Amino acid sequence: MKTLQQTKPKQNFISAFLLLFILFSCAQEPDRQIEIRGIYGHPKPLWDKGYSLPDLGINAVFVHGGSIDSALMERAKSEGIKVYAEFATLNGLNYVEEHPEAWAINEKGEQVEAASWFMGVCPTEPGFREYRFSQLRKLLNDYDISGVWMDYVHWHAQFEEPQPILPETCFCNHCLTTFSKEKNLEIQGGSTAEKAQWILQNKDKEWRDWRCAVILDWSVQIRKIIDEQKPGTLLGLYHCPWTDEEFDGARRRILGLDYDLLRDVFDVFSPMVYHARMGREPAWVEENIRWFCKRLEIKNGASPKVWPIVQAYNNPYTISSGEFETVLKGGIAEKSSGAMMFTTNAIAEDEEKIEVVKKVYHGISQ
Ligand SMILES: [Zn+2]
Repeated sequence: MKTLQQTKPKQNFISAFLLLFILFSCAQEPDRQIEIRGIYGHPKPLWDKGYSLPDLGINAVFVHGGSIDSALMERAKSEGIKVYAEFATLNGLNYVEEHPEAWAINEKGEQVEAASWFMGVCPTEPGFREYRFSQLRKLLNDYDISGVWMDYVHWHAQFEEPQPILPETCFCNHCLTTFSKEKNLEIQGGSTAEKAQWILQNKDKEWRDWRCAVILDWSVQIRKIIDEQKPGTLLGLYHCPWTDEEFDGARRRILGLDYDLLRDVFDVFSPMVYHARMGREPAWVEENIRWFCKRLEIKNGASPKVWPIVQAYNNPYTISSGEFETVLKGGIAEKSSGAMMFTTNAIAEDEEKIEVVKKVYHGISQ
């Protein structure tokens, strides 16, 4: 009895403290809101079918920067739709054909071959950097877009396949000189192949870290241009969705994507969870988004946000409407606050997929 009487005030104190703690936690993190009900690709195929985007619950379009024109901007505005520009960053077959000095070089000292349809340009080549930055300045100058979504932000590789292509690059003279200078080390060896071998055998960690820093720098420079020219425009990233371990850590090791570095630069991450292209089950989308939100410690209502892009496109097989529904719902799991699908055309040509978009997007509280 004595013991009970003594401990009771203490228990009351603990209960009061817990209650305060819970109230405080709720005040800190607002309820999750799905703010983006998006599509990827020009809305024309849907407009041609007589739909307005709000009919389908859509409130945002993500369009390749080069496909934006005033007609799109005007109609999107009249429907109350936000327009985000995809900005192709390091993909450039045409560019390297015209500017061989920017061709990425592999560990044998040879020009890389295209990784299926992807041709990564050397990310340190100064002429290429200036070319891309001026394209961005023009885009920002021409249109009042709500955001810039950097795409193809990685060293030469191909991750959108069940068996990815993961070469070692780039050992061009510019990369070797910059690496040597920034890491304050002297690269041993005569030929490019010997130098590459020496780096991979002796300075692997420094090499991987430096490559991640190069990708980070692209993101920082693009952020800077946006902040100078159109402050308030969001910066997003389309990126490989692999976990830290998959393919022996290739997301960081080969692609150069270090989430811990990139987290502070981007407003929004858009993991490219293309289940069919990557040979995964539809349920993988939700699993991956849950993993990713935890990995980046995403919080409701705070930056960075997560708006995944899921696959509706029929490749390498026909995606059923049921499968599409699973991946679209998976895309808004955990702390995700938006989603879009690849592509607008893939839903416009399939009435059942249009019904899924309507059902899922109208089902989200607005
Ligand atoms: Zn290079």
